[in-house]
Amino acid sequence: MINVMGLTKTFGKTQVLKGIDTSIAKGEVVVVIGPSGSGKSTFLRCLNLLETPTSGEIVFDGLPLTGKKTDINKLRERMGMVFQQFNLFPHLRVIDNITIAPKKLKGTTDAEARALAMRLLERIGLQHKADAYPSQLSGGQKQRIAIARALAMQPAVMLFDEPTSALDPEMVGEVLDVMRELAREGMTMVVVTHEMGFAREVGDRVVFMDGGRIVEEAEPASLFATPQHPRTKEFLSKVL
Ligand code: ADP
Ligand code: MG
Repeated sequence: MINVMGLTKTFGKTQVLKGIDTSIAKGEVVVVIGPSGSGKSTFLRCLNLLETPTSGEIVFDGLPLTGKKTDINKLRERMGMVFQQFNLFPHLRVIDNITIAPKKLKGTTDAEARALAMRLLERIGLQHKADAYPSQLSGGQKQRIAIARALAMQPAVMLFDEPTSALDPEMVGEVLDVMRELAREGMTMVVVTHEMGFAREVGDRVVFMDGGRIVEEAEPASLFATPQHPRTKEFLSKVL
């Protein structure tokens, strides 16, 4: 689904990504872990061109993203992203937060967009919040709505950048439950997270990044039990 070859990203004089090579298969759940500042967010943001790669290639579903004539809007329709800060539109009701992109970007009719939004709300158990404003929701509810809003575009891939890091601890579980369900339904997902339990249980593969490189990647059971690289061992000894 996604092929990344020799991806680098430089901000000013600082090379933040130093040559990332990896690929993500359809239906795969890849969990990205690593210390703060290791380039995890920059990597995700390059995948959907929120950042322009400095060099290297990304091919998404057969389409080169790093070419001049990439249609960024089409790409973003097919790649949903969920951030640490939920970024809901504060002045829009929940239902309108979810329907706005399909209506504006895909020309979905109001009735269709609402029907899809209600199905998504039902799936995350928040159909009773359709007419609420974001300020009336808890953090966990906001993040579940942010996931539903991304899903409303019917993306082929979902990218998550520390989706539970801004939540009070008691709300982390409800968001991880939605993500776990999505994985179970076969969604292709790239998830940056510090939730090692989630990585172990839901991840097909864990990628450990440090210093702008992928230091090690493996199935969770083997990466957590027998990390090969000293830096992976050191990181895991601090977080597990
Ligand atoms: P992580 O998500 O792993 O914490 P980031 O990808 O956010 O790491 O950041 C990696 C490095 O790149 C950090 O040193 C950060 O300061 C730097 N960086 C990220 N975004 C920018 C930017 N827009 N301009 C300059 N430096 C940046
Ligand atoms: Mg980050």
